[in-house]
Parts: sequence; C-alpha cells; structure tokens
Amino acid sequence: MESIKKRQPLYWINPNARLRFPYYSIEWHLCDHQDLFQDQRKESPFRKVYRAKTTCVIILNSEDHSKTDILYSVVVDFHNMKLQKWLRESIKEQIIVRASIVLPQRMHELEAKHQLFAKGVSVKPLRKGVLGQCTHTNFITLSPIIAIIPKELMDDVILHEMAHLKYHHHLKSFWKYLSQLIGEDAEQQKVIQDIALSKYWGFYMFLMK
Ligand SMILES: [Zn+2]
Repeated sequence: MESIKKRQPLYWINPNARLRFPYYSIEWHLCDHQDLFQDQRKESPFRKVYRAKTTCVIILNSEDHSKTDILYSVVVDFHNMKLQKWLRESIKEQIIVRASIVLPQRMHELEAKHQLFAKGVSVKPLRKGVLGQCTHTNFITLSPIIAIIPKELMDDVILHEMAHLKYHHHLKSFWKYLSQLIGEDAEQQKVIQDIALSKYWGFYMFLMK
C-alpha cells in the first residue's frame, strides 16, 4: 500500500483540471483515437507528442505561448504516471516561456509609469516560496509563477522588487515607499496577498516543481 500511495501525485492533470490563468490557459479537446494515432507530424516548440503503445496525446502551443491545446482520445489513461509527468513538465515549460515574455513587458510598463528603472530583469525559477529578488546592483529576477497568479498580485510582486531599487531592506521606509507605488497600504496588501495566494499555492508549487 505504502508504495502505491507514494506514487499518487498531489494533483491530476486531466481534462477535468481547470488550468486557466491570467496570461496562460489550457484547453482540452476530445479527438478521434485513430486520427491522433496516425498523425505523424514532427515535434517542434509548438507541437509535442506523447506516444505510448496504444495512447497518443498531442500538445499544441499557440505562437505567443499564451494558450495550449491538448488533444486526447477516450482511450487515454490519465492515471499513467509517465503521461502525468510528461504533461506537468510540458505545461511547466510553457509557463516559463510565457512568463519570460509577459513579466519583463509588464515590469517595463511599471518602470515607465513610476520612472523607476532596474539595471535589468530576468525570469527564472527561484527558491521555493520566493517570487522575486532584487540584487544590490539593481538587477531584478522574477519567478515564472507570478505569471499564473491573479494579475493584481503579479503587479504587487513586481512593485515590491522595484521598491527595492530604492531601499535594499524591509524597514519602515521601504514599506512606506511601496505603499506609494501600490497606492494603498502595502503591509495591509501583503496580508491580502498571503491569503489570496494560499488557496492555490499548493497547485502552483506542484506545477512548477
Ligand atoms: Zn523584499
């Protein structure tokens, strides 16, 4: 029993999974098994194919990576752990690509709005629980996870890192300045953020692990 239990994932990625985020969404399409199986087109960044003895699942990514269509048929067994791993890794990859487009864009908008500029910005997975960081040389790194959290929270995380361009600490002066940027009380905002994040946090972590 123990070993079976261990293999159960926290979440299942299947056509019942709601995977719609502000900047990225997934749609499932039930297709004819033969059509899928006989499709021999090559893989590309926009097209990935999972093929086992009798099953076939095809992932189609839109050009701007904002949308993924997953084609499957009635014979696909979503309890197959190999398939689960493939789906999770493919989705994670897309979220990272999408985040690398969306997050710097949004940060540059906020930089122009507040006339506050970083030396540069990069998007890459950070330590568990860390959404962003700002170095003493004013280089900002953002976690791809913030591209799938609610939009307002995404701005808050970016503004938090941008506030570090002026204050490289979390003392009162930092929070006061962040309040100005966000336009409301930042410490209060942080509480709201924590609550809002907690509901889906486990799922985000599972997707991006
Ligand atoms: Zn901070």
